[in-house]
Amino acid sequence: MKTEITKQEELAIEQAFADLLKSYTATRHHQKVDLITRAFEFAKNAHAGVRRRSGEPYIMHPLAVAKIVVSEIGLGSTCICAALLHDVVEDTDTTIEQIQQEFGEQIAVIVDGLTKISSNLLSKEASTQAENFRKLFATMATDARVVLVKIADRLHNMRTLEFQPKEKQLKIAGETQYIYAPLAYRLGLFPIKQELENLSFKYNHPAQYEDICRRLENKQTVQMEHFELFAKPIRFALQSMGYDFEMQARIKTPYSIWKKMQDKNVSFDEVYDLLAVRIVFKPNTDRSEKEQCWNIYSAVTEIYKPHPERIRDWISTPKANGYEALHVTVMGPEGEWVEVQIRTTRMHDIAERGLAAHWKYKMGNDTNSELDRWIDQIRDLIKQHSQNTADFLSEFKLNLFSSEIFVFTPRGDFNILPQGATVLDFAYQLHTELGEHCVGAKVNHALQPLSYKIKSGDQVEIITAENQHPQREWLQWTNTAKAKSRLNDYFRRGDRELIAQGEKKFNDELNRLGKSEMHDIALHRLLHYYDFKQPAHLMLQIGKGVLSLEPLEELLKSKKQRQRKEEAPASKPQIPKLLVLTDYGRNKEYTLANCCHPIPGDEVFAYLNDKNMFVVHKSNCPDAERIKSSYGKRLCPAEWDNSRTQTFVETIALQGIDRTGVIIKALEIISTHYKCNLQYMQIKANDGLFEGRLKLDVYDSDEVRKICSEISEIPEINYARRIESRGEK
Ligand code: MN
Repeated sequence: MKTEITKQEELAIEQAFADLLKSYTATRHHQKVDLITRAFEFAKNAHAGVRRRSGEPYIMHPLAVAKIVVSEIGLGSTCICAALLHDVVEDTDTTIEQIQQEFGEQIAVIVDGLTKISSNLLSKEASTQAENFRKLFATMATDARVVLVKIADRLHNMRTLEFQPKEKQLKIAGETQYIYAPLAYRLGLFPIKQELENLSFKYNHPAQYEDICRRLENKQTVQMEHFELFAKPIRFALQSMGYDFEMQARIKTPYSIWKKMQDKNVSFDEVYDLLAVRIVFKPNTDRSEKEQCWNIYSAVTEIYKPHPERIRDWISTPKANGYEALHVTVMGPEGEWVEVQIRTTRMHDIAERGLAAHWKYKMGNDTNSELDRWIDQIRDLIKQHSQNTADFLSEFKLNLFSSEIFVFTPRGDFNILPQGATVLDFAYQLHTELGEHCVGAKVNHALQPLSYKIKSGDQVEIITAENQHPQREWLQWTNTAKAKSRLNDYFRRGDRELIAQGEKKFNDELNRLGKSEMHDIALHRLLHYYDFKQPAHLMLQIGKGVLSLEPLEELLKSKKQRQRKEEAPASKPQIPKLLVLTDYGRNKEYTLANCCHPIPGDEVFAYLNDKNMFVVHKSNCPDAERIKSSYGKRLCPAEWDNSRTQTFVETIALQGIDRTGVIIKALEIISTHYKCNLQYMQIKANDGLFEGRLKLDVYDSDEVRKICSEISEIPEINYARRIESRGEK
């Protein structure tokens, strides 16, 4: 809707901008009021006349996002300007070049990144979804501020979600729950993460949300009385210690209550730790913050008995997102467990705004901050998946959504690994060299294998051996992107050596047979024999010793000699059997892929799926590229045996001149010459031409090929060809 802005609205806009500037000038950032004012005017003109669904003038949205950026994330003028301008390229005629001219490279890069991240991260197709993730992180790797502004944008959209239609609400809420809340958490934006989760919950489960809110309200008075009772002696103790402090009651959010009810399968009344208490104090400069936190801990536990297993020291080892605090759960005066969080004002600032705020001050100099490390990890992931995005999503989740564990070296250095990390992951995290020679580890002084899953707090000493080298099965024992990508690098290197060995074996064999002049022919025939297209693939298997060069002598004989041999009766096994040639072993169990329905004679390959079952696909299966790139290490060449003991359904399409008897001729070939069972037939005639589809039971692709070529020889037939199954039923 485009309508003139009323005087009142004009006033509201000016008010919101003044409020933004007030928040900005209160920070310690450089004072770039002029730049921000220009960005505001620019955005206001660009969005002029446009309104949001809520009916507000559109500019109120960028203003609100900018306000979140400064007040709730703690970012400076660059991000404020980017926030003000974040929708102009996408929604108006403004180009990114104009932004660059007006506001410089840095702001333009962020606005461009924000425009590029599709607002539609969770699309129906998994591939698009993965692609969007990749885009998001690629953008993030260039400038993490893109993501911070994006989160602010999402937060404001969630706050105003009530104006969206129902189905859009669900979609946006789902996306927020799935992507933005974990992202916010990982960036240390804890209050934003909580609010995003809570708002998602509100729209995803409105009835439960209302119910929990109502129950919380009923309890509120009691809770506050409870808090006052609990806090009183602590306040007294801290005052007598001379601390400048604040004590706050923290009531759990409806979402976190609901989650607990789900996780623990309990009712609302059984969620006992509704109340948490936070102590934020100004530390004295004469002693360390850590020492003072523990002093306060002592004072609190003098008064209330602590739960022995519920002390969390996030000061000695801060969370990966930068969070620092001391958490202790104590028994309150009414016999209830109450969590007490002890933080200094500095820690509190980090907890509320995350590393983002701190990171700003570190811009330009190379710091080892957690945020940088995190972005490095993301970059590793993107690099590894630059070719294919199929598995990107799951691996990203593996690293980002799982919580971290802490692992100590014998010297007491600590490392952060994702939950589920193994000894092998840890070895690779420390150094590629350590990973490649790792034979196991001493975990808390006990010997453990490579696949051992490390627990938080474990002390791990990696044991190596010179003669140890990576094995393919190691890939199953790694859960970090780094270890996986290093292993894949290693195997790629190894493959090159094996290919060279294969080539040498091949040449040696030719020399032995005295046929080195027939090199090209020999290679061609061997490729055909083993059903390979790429010489490198063949040589790799020969290099590994999986495929033998034995058939070479036979293959180099003349065609006549060979044909005679082929006509000799072969012994026929009773069950249809696929000859699988692989370093995993021969004749494993297999299934034929549903997507491309290979039949004997088709050029196929197999890959080992997660259930340790070989799945056979056609080499030209549309899925093959994806499978090959994602599961490259699990592929193995496959060949059919020619036992002809089982039939398969194949479809033939034909077209010809619609003349009496032509169909009969075709059917005669099928049923009389080839004795094939016809399952289904469909014929459509139009303008003197007909088109038909036949489904037959055949033994193999050769049979289909022969049938088609024979039908094609009927003079009235234009063509008869096999329909390659491509996913459709
Ligand atoms: Mn927006």
